Amino acid sequence: MRIAILKRNKCQPRKCEYECIKYCPMVQTGAETVVQGGDGKPVISEELCEGCGICIKKCPFTAISIIGLPEELKGEETHRYGENGFVLYGMPIPKAGKITGMIGENGIGKSTAIKILSGLQVPNMGKVEVEAEAKASWDEIIKKYAGSTLQNYFDKLSKGKIKVAYKPQYVDAIPEFFDGKVYELLESTDETGVSKQLVRAFELEEAMQNDIKELSGGELQRVAVIGSMIRDADFYFFDEITPYLDIYQRVKVAKGIKDVLKDKAKAVVVVEHDLAILDMLADYVHQLYGEPGGYGVVTMPKSTNRGINEYLSGFLQAENVRIRDKPIEFSAHPPREKREERSVFIEYDGFEKKYGGDGFVLEAKPGSIEEGEVLGIVGKNAIGKSTFVKVLAGETEPTIGKKALTGLAGSWGGAPQSFDISVSYKPQYIKGELDMKVKDFIYSLKEESSEADVIDVLHPLGISEIEEKNIKELSGGELQSVAIAACLCHDASLYMLDEPSAHLDVEQKVRLIKTVRRYAERRGVSMLIVDHDIYLIDLLSDRLMVFDGEPGVRGEIKGCFEMREGMDLFLKDLSVTFRRDESSLRPRINKIGSAKDREQKEKGKYYYL
Ligand code: ADP
Ligand code: ADP
Ligand code: MG
Repeated sequence: MRIAILKRNKCQPRKCEYECIKYCPMVQTGAETVVQGGDGKPVISEELCEGCGICIKKCPFTAISIIGLPEELKGEETHRYGENGFVLYGMPIPKAGKITGMIGENGIGKSTAIKILSGLQVPNMGKVEVEAEAKASWDEIIKKYAGSTLQNYFDKLSKGKIKVAYKPQYVDAIPEFFDGKVYELLESTDETGVSKQLVRAFELEEAMQNDIKELSGGELQRVAVIGSMIRDADFYFFDEITPYLDIYQRVKVAKGIKDVLKDKAKAVVVVEHDLAILDMLADYVHQLYGEPGGYGVVTMPKSTNRGINEYLSGFLQAENVRIRDKPIEFSAHPPREKREERSVFIEYDGFEKKYGGDGFVLEAKPGSIEEGEVLGIVGKNAIGKSTFVKVLAGETEPTIGKKALTGLAGSWGGAPQSFDISVSYKPQYIKGELDMKVKDFIYSLKEESSEADVIDVLHPLGISEIEEKNIKELSGGELQSVAIAACLCHDASLYMLDEPSAHLDVEQKVRLIKTVRRYAERRGVSMLIVDHDIYLIDLLSDRLMVFDGEPGVRGEIKGCFEMREGMDLFLKDLSVTFRRDESSLRPRINKIGSAKDREQKEKGKYYYL
């Protein structure tokens, strides 16, 4: 079986010569394999196409994919977005009293599946030929799922007999259609009377009197999650819960969903890229594989542990599908082969930074950063992490303490020499307003483009694939990748990435981890990585810097620690414990109050025994 995909946002018929039609060998013999459609864009016939792949190569905008698929998928279509559009195969199955997770890269159909189950998108079973009948009648859908759990589900859904609650992926859009204060929104939608309990659990009391429009991303995300949790529904759908949240908030929200919904025997479906959180939440997972923008296949449900381990290993056994050429491997000990030879790179004195008279204050004890190390940074939002880096970078002066920092370049031979530290910094929030191509933007950063940047940064981060796109059109994950690339393409001695994993899917996180580790090792520079994804921090960091304090009021740097010591300190504050999965060695959050959890807390070993 073969499907032809036209990426409609890439196709630009006014700027090309219809190479897809002109060079098609079938067209040359008189067949209507590729014809001009109503909007000027080509329509490729999947029946007539022979799969030679010439149009793929000839299209100047790489808008066409012709994909060979296993025959088993024939008839398994759930939905297709128009002719030559994305196809979704299969469907996740919600279960009462269970939390079902979905894992897969961006553009693979997770949101589509959730929208179908929520009744927001009527599936067409892949039948798009007749525009007027594009939506397969519910009868047909119900017939197709005859005998399965989904038959009953779609039957009830079509008759309006199922109540669903849905948290959309993009919370940033909420202020556009809700005007008013947080408490007004929550009071007017609270059907179950749990909003107060959740507001307390998610620490949102202080935001209750604020306008929805004034909320920070993290506040908006928590309000949106509560907004759907307080619906009196049978099925709850959450399209990502962790964006903009710090690790403390992530754990609280995950725990809240478990406590409130699961215990009431509700069916919950969650899409999530933070695997530690997904692992903590879900009873089952469906993996999604395929080709982003082309097609996506939803696998059968698997136990969460197996589902995540398989996904990390890159090979789905039951489906016999390889989704990645290399596995993602955790090790019980952080990567530290070169630690012994490493020398101190930057030494900073203690300092204090205060904003205004009674503004936020950060206290930093003296510390040091080693050459070529990746230093993970953990701590709540608004606790001074960015402020610390700005002081290091000399962008802002400390209130008490020495201003300038000096690097010690001892390892390059001879006596340590001091030098000015240059910092390249990727801020936490990035804007996608620039009206220029990705490649023009990247090359505008440097006088000379270097081959090393292409090899070390642009290629591994996948920027080469999107370099023709306009910055304005990028998805959240793509924009993040461009911002990371821009930071790494600057020449500096110290690199700082503030929340690089935000908006990235699992595959993009894998690329980020590889790129950052290799970059630090090859170039001997030091990297500071602030992030809230525990897997990312575990896979990336040589050591850990731990922040503590009260968000928005005061922050304190506890110091730089070996991984285990730092994690113990940090997790103690979070009051969760981790164990290592026996087969994959990935960290797993222990069930709160379980025997392991209690034992580890007693021994003070929060980050596995
Ligand atoms: P995910 O949630 O896994 O990132 P989505 O379900 O949002 O993926 O999208 C899957 C694919 O379907 C994407 O390639 C996207 O471009 C396409 N798509 C999504 N919504 C529409 C739509 N309304 N019309 C046409 N194509 C769409
Ligand atoms: P983090 O990076 O940990 O999220 P930041 O260092 O950005 O935290 O901010 C810590 C606190 O300092 C926040 O409450 C923030 O609002 C405040 N803050 C940051 N920059 C300024 C500034 N230039 N003037 C006043 N307050 C600021
Ligand atoms: Mg999505």
